[in-house]
Amino acid sequence: MNLFSSEVPLRKGGIIVHIFIQTIKDRCHECYACVRNCPVKTVKVEDGQAEIIQERCIECTNCVNICSQGAKEIKIHLDKVRSLLKEEYSALAR
Ligand code: SF4
Ligand code: SF4
Repeated sequence: MNLFSSEVPLRKGGIIVHIFIQTIKDRCHECYACVRNCPVKTVKVEDGQAEIIQERCIECTNCVNICSQGAKEIKIHLDKVRSLLKEEYSALAR
């Protein structure tokens, strides 16, 4: 499963937090709601499960909100957040 996607500009203070959307396969019931409601048509159903083509996802979170099974989860790129925090603190220390 590809868990990584493009970056999303969720702002926390002065820091941009990067997220990606993950499908919890066991919960997906192949209802196609996320496929129909994706504005950039980047969800496909393969082997009975919805998958996001991560490179094209604009992370609007429509699919997270529309999924009645709670099969879509928002995850945060912790490495990128840590790196941004480090940059922010070093800039403040100067
Ligand atoms: S909306 Fe949820 S249950 Fe329906 S296909 Fe998408 S991930 Fe699966
Ligand atoms: S977050 Fe938005 S763009 Fe990305 S797969 Fe879900 S509905 Fe499509």
